[in-house]
Amino acid sequence: MSEPESPSTRGGSRESVEHPRNFGARAAAVAVASAIIDQGFIAYFAGGCVRDEILGLAPTDFDIATDATPDEIAKIFRGARGVGESFGVMLVRWKDRVVEVATFRADGVYHDGRRPSDIRFTTAEEDAHRRDFTINGLFRHPTTGEIVDFVKGQEDLAKRVLRAIGDPVARLREDRLRTLRAVRFVARFELTVDPETEHAICDAARDLVGVSRERIGGEFRRMFSHRTRARAVQLIEKWGLDAPALGESNSTGPCERVERIPDEASFGTVLAAWWLDRRGRADSVKPGEWRSTLNTSGSEWKQCGEILDIIATLEGSWEGLSTAQKKRLAARMDFNSALSVLFGIDARRVHEIRLEVDGLALEPGGLAPMPFLTGVDLIALGHAPGPKFKAILEQIYDRQLEGHVTSNEQAVVEARTLWTP
Ligand code: ATP
Ligand code: MG
Repeated sequence: MSEPESPSTRGGSRESVEHPRNFGARAAAVAVASAIIDQGFIAYFAGGCVRDEILGLAPTDFDIATDATPDEIAKIFRGARGVGESFGVMLVRWKDRVVEVATFRADGVYHDGRRPSDIRFTTAEEDAHRRDFTINGLFRHPTTGEIVDFVKGQEDLAKRVLRAIGDPVARLREDRLRTLRAVRFVARFELTVDPETEHAICDAARDLVGVSRERIGGEFRRMFSHRTRARAVQLIEKWGLDAPALGESNSTGPCERVERIPDEASFGTVLAAWWLDRRGRADSVKPGEWRSTLNTSGSEWKQCGEILDIIATLEGSWEGLSTAQKKRLAARMDFNSALSVLFGIDARRVHEIRLEVDGLALEPGGLAPMPFLTGVDLIALGHAPGPKFKAILEQIYDRQLEGHVTSNEQAVVEARTLWTP
């Protein structure tokens, strides 16, 4: 849930990797909601899960909204515990699942476009009105399936329109992350945008600067994990959200690389593709600032840098590399991701490189054979580890990759001749 900031707001993506229809999560949510209803309270599925099911999609999570207070939830479910207590959200364990149960609430005045000063418990209708967009403001009875709609969300879903609930300017200003959420929903569900809502998004765009990096990064990760990410990039740039999100000036260039990377591309790959779409070349300054502005993890960041580095070498001149250099490059873990990024602007070249790499992979030992010469051999020859030691290992390995050294014995002989004082 990407609710307004609280000390316990969870970061990261919750994309489901379990059963494709997420039956287990749904069954747990039905059981929890039914147990609340059995105690005389109201309990609905709320927000995104209702929207997704109406669209025929498998929800990633099922949130329950209820008139039972957190204390009452704690009495019904032993072991239920509060999360973001100030928002009245409880986590209820059901078998091996955890279900989020939130008491209907109204948000007080928002502080600095990020979080409400306070909340109070209220009715389902008021709870629907504190949500961001009409398509996210629906409730559904967990067992009868009846839809409870206070915000005309069904109508907008049918028309595939994104519309803010209430006054768009006020709603987009009070929590500025909603501008990025808007991008995600429009891209993901292929929506059009109500003109007033679109105007309000552009109006609030520059204030995204004040939103936490964790929340911004979380939204990017979610929208970039879907195949509609190129649409998201276009909207981000069109609405001027790139400047405040990335800490650089707005640009609305073509998005050829992002458009053509594989659906399942990693976050690091998408970032590399987007970086190149915005700058043109891989050898320009590396996206150091994106690391903190998009709150990337160390490994995502490393992968993005690796891909840009490989592309810079490929663009420099693949043809000019020796066989050993080609094999070393092609054996790098992110080589295929780099090719998938390059594909967007030069499919023919990628095809040629792939053919050549396939040929190299068929040579004895493949792209990355076990070295014939190791440190143990050099130590046996009486040498101590150090820079020269390492350089000789590399040189002999290059000769092996070129096909000139074909055995351990030959490697040792060559190492001896190379080691001149
Ligand atoms: P996803 O499919 O990615 O889970 P979602 O719409 O379910 O998208 P969540 O972050 O899971 O988004 O939030 C659940 C619901 O809570 C939303 O559908 C919406 O009703 C409400 N909500 C979440 N974040 C906000 C916000 N920033 N402002 C207003 N309402 C929000
Ligand atoms: Mg959700």
